[in-house]
Amino acid sequence: MSILLGCIADDFTGATDLANTLVRQGMRTVQFFGPPGPDVDVPEAEAVVIALKSRTNPAGEAIQQSLEALQWLQGAGAEQFFFKYCSTFDSTPEGNIGPVAEALLVALDQDFTIACPAFPENGRTICNGYLFVGAQLLSESGMQNHPLTPMTDSSLVRVLAAQCRHPVGLVDHRTVAAGAAQIQAAFAKLHSEGKQYAIVDALNDADLLRIGAACYGLKLITGGSGVALGLPENFRRAGKLSTDTAADSLPSVPGLGVVLSGSCSEVTLAQVAAMQGSRPSFRIDPLKLAAGEDQVAEALTWAKARLADGPPLIYASAAPNDVRMAQDKLGRAGAGDLIEAAMAKIAMSLVLAGVRRLVVAGGETSGAVIQALGVDGIRIGSQIDPGVPWTTTLRTTALGQPELALALKSGNFGVEDFFLKALDCAP
Ligand code: ADP
Repeated sequence: MSILLGCIADDFTGATDLANTLVRQGMRTVQFFGPPGPDVDVPEAEAVVIALKSRTNPAGEAIQQSLEALQWLQGAGAEQFFFKYCSTFDSTPEGNIGPVAEALLVALDQDFTIACPAFPENGRTICNGYLFVGAQLLSESGMQNHPLTPMTDSSLVRVLAAQCRHPVGLVDHRTVAAGAAQIQAAFAKLHSEGKQYAIVDALNDADLLRIGAACYGLKLITGGSGVALGLPENFRRAGKLSTDTAADSLPSVPGLGVVLSGSCSEVTLAQVAAMQGSRPSFRIDPLKLAAGEDQVAEALTWAKARLADGPPLIYASAAPNDVRMAQDKLGRAGAGDLIEAAMAKIAMSLVLAGVRRLVVAGGETSGAVIQALGVDGIRIGSQIDPGVPWTTTLRTTALGQPELALALKSGNFGVEDFFLKALDCAP
């Protein structure tokens, strides 16, 4: 097989968000969790997204994983490459957006790319290089309290420059609004000034389409799923992609459902509260886990008694004060790891108990669940809410189970009744 677009995503829900965008733009897309091994049957596709769980790893590890993914995508014949990160630019002063982008550029023998996390449909816009979430600056949007990657500076030029060895420039909105040719001219100017990265302003989808068109000749593009909106059209114009834009249809996956939530974003907290209004819920508490309480067994007994009556909710999601308390005692990674391990075990046991439809909230949380289940790849189906499609598994090696339906929700995505809305339209 030979693919057109090869994508590397730094977390699992972000990967699905990107795959969703590409499918909606008519590109047949398959997503793998890590580069597929030689024993994996890769379905025919025009784009492959390799999802990594590298957002919060030490930068060296993230680079190594990303380069392995790149190598696989190059082997699959990809003509252009996309490094996908969160639309809220989730990263720490050490990385990993800058270091990974830099390593990919070197591996591709390139010295210029863009960085554009805008996702206007979900309220993420960039103006003069400042990232907004809705009407708020990133640093006042709740993201300043993120458990793993608190974002306290909204200037993407500054944030990225702190992570990179090479200078970062800006393509402002006036230039973006003027059209693809002007954007390309701005890229060329920044490049000639020695800038290796361009933060690109975008306020709406029309901007993203123009930016996408301007990225025609770039070997590497970095950004959120939004900027991928305009990339399929470049291949279509070159006669490499069919004009059929139908989204992938998924096989039907009947069975019991459950919602697992490990995201602490404001949006997820509201979704958890909404589901608690009509469905039973069980809270996983990192302090109880640390004290040796067997909350996994308790949650399983509790859930198994309720599964037949409809999907229950198991959540660790907590307000910033509770998260801080847990982190003060257990450390940021310590608390996260305990919860992720618990969620992963719960997911495994529930699948063994007959659950086939899982809605998982949180990028890291989804990563832990997917890895535990041994899912190696997914097909992408129709969209539930912007950025979140239903998917079905290609294989679940850990359990030898039949297909599962998975909705992997990035923390900040989805309407307030997302969880039940998703299960209502499960494949
Ligand atoms: P998001 O998509 O919102 O970023 P993630 O799952 O990626 O969500 O990240 C949330 C992190 O917070 C995970 O590592 C999760 O284990 C951790 N977490 C969840 N609940 C708590 C809690 N009550 N206390 C501390 N950390 C928590």
